[in-house]
Amino acid sequence: MSYLSIRDLDLKGKRVFIRVDFNVPLQKNEKGIMEITSDKRIKASLPTIQYALEHGAGVILASHLGRPKGKPNPEMSLQPVAARLQELLGRPVKMAPDCIGPEVEALKPAPGEVLLLENLRFHPEEEKNDPEFAKKLAALCDVYVNDAFGSAHRAHASTEGMIQFVPKAAAGLLMEAELKYLGMATTNPARPCVAILGGAKVSDKIEVIRNLGKVVDKLLIGGAMAYTFLKAQGLPIGKSLVEDEKIELAKSLLAELGGKLMLPVDHVVVSEIAAGAANEVVATIPDAKIGVDIGPKTIDAYSKVIAGAKTVIWNGPMGIFEKPPFDAGTVALAKAVAASGAVSIVGGGDSEKAIKAAGVTSKITHVSTGGGASLEFLAGIKLPGVAALNR
Ligand code: AMP
Repeated sequence: MSYLSIRDLDLKGKRVFIRVDFNVPLQKNEKGIMEITSDKRIKASLPTIQYALEHGAGVILASHLGRPKGKPNPEMSLQPVAARLQELLGRPVKMAPDCIGPEVEALKPAPGEVLLLENLRFHPEEEKNDPEFAKKLAALCDVYVNDAFGSAHRAHASTEGMIQFVPKAAAGLLMEAELKYLGMATTNPARPCVAILGGAKVSDKIEVIRNLGKVVDKLLIGGAMAYTFLKAQGLPIGKSLVEDEKIELAKSLLAELGGKLMLPVDHVVVSEIAAGAANEVVATIPDAKIGVDIGPKTIDAYSKVIAGAKTVIWNGPMGIFEKPPFDAGTVALAKAVAASGAVSIVGGGDSEKAIKAAGVTSKITHVSTGGGASLEFLAGIKLPGVAALNR
């Protein structure tokens, strides 16, 4: 794949449209004002914005926020983001009343200025990838930069459609980092390469298992997903979460992947799911019990594989990690990944929370900002937003 980076472009005096991911979580405070509860996504796009400003560009920022269903909705306005961004950048950020139209055109930023467009999804044409809408967005700028990896799996006007109408298009610094690490992990990883996959459902991750199965040396399975595989092997799983309609598929994946796929050999089980519920460790799950985490022998076996790895790719928790102590398996593996010294790539909100809870975030090589997008990338699916940059 070849695409330009923002670092390849001459930005001096240019108006740069940066598609960012400012889809931040918001909450209404007691005065009825929307407040940002995490500014992580705003911070993640700062390097690209600062780069453009330092290189003499006027910057137009555009994002979606929530699901306003094609209509303006004050509760999903990007206004609170403009305020927070202004604090983080230490320079004024102008808020546009819309994302297209004469009022927006009148606000086009001069070099060194920043304009944040209003929520792209206030127009139904954004998600429909309408060419006329895409043209209007494109007309605002000289250069297009996509830094919204988290939206790259969507072919929307701002992520895909407008690229054919702009004079130049490139990847932002965040996008570039995502593509570099995820690309390396899936095409040319340092070996041994180990993938850890967990979470609730096999069905969400079938293509990831299949695609990574071709590349990695070992695939460690945990979370509820493991029970579908164990049942496919004819082992008892009690009342654990299972996808019965995926048993046949699990059987074929087991056959396809052979010895590469590792499954838990012991389990933490409970009679009912609740934080702190009475639990025990078993090798064979009794009929009335529910598996909620991988057991200590599994932690040991998986940790040994991880210790020998040169590359680790991780997506999804090993148990119901939101309800301690059933976070033990996930946290133990987070520590094992950190201690391995391997190039480590972590995706998905839950795995990110786990590395934070384990206090090892700084030891992880790359934490992906795009849950859905990183899963599609790992599944080998071409992301439309990235493919458009390649054209
Ligand atoms: P996913 O979004 O597919 O990565 O799944 C994450 C969810 O899987 C988390 O909310 C976990 O609580 C859940 N999960 C992991 N292990 C289990 C389990 N053994 N039983 C039920 N849910 C689980």
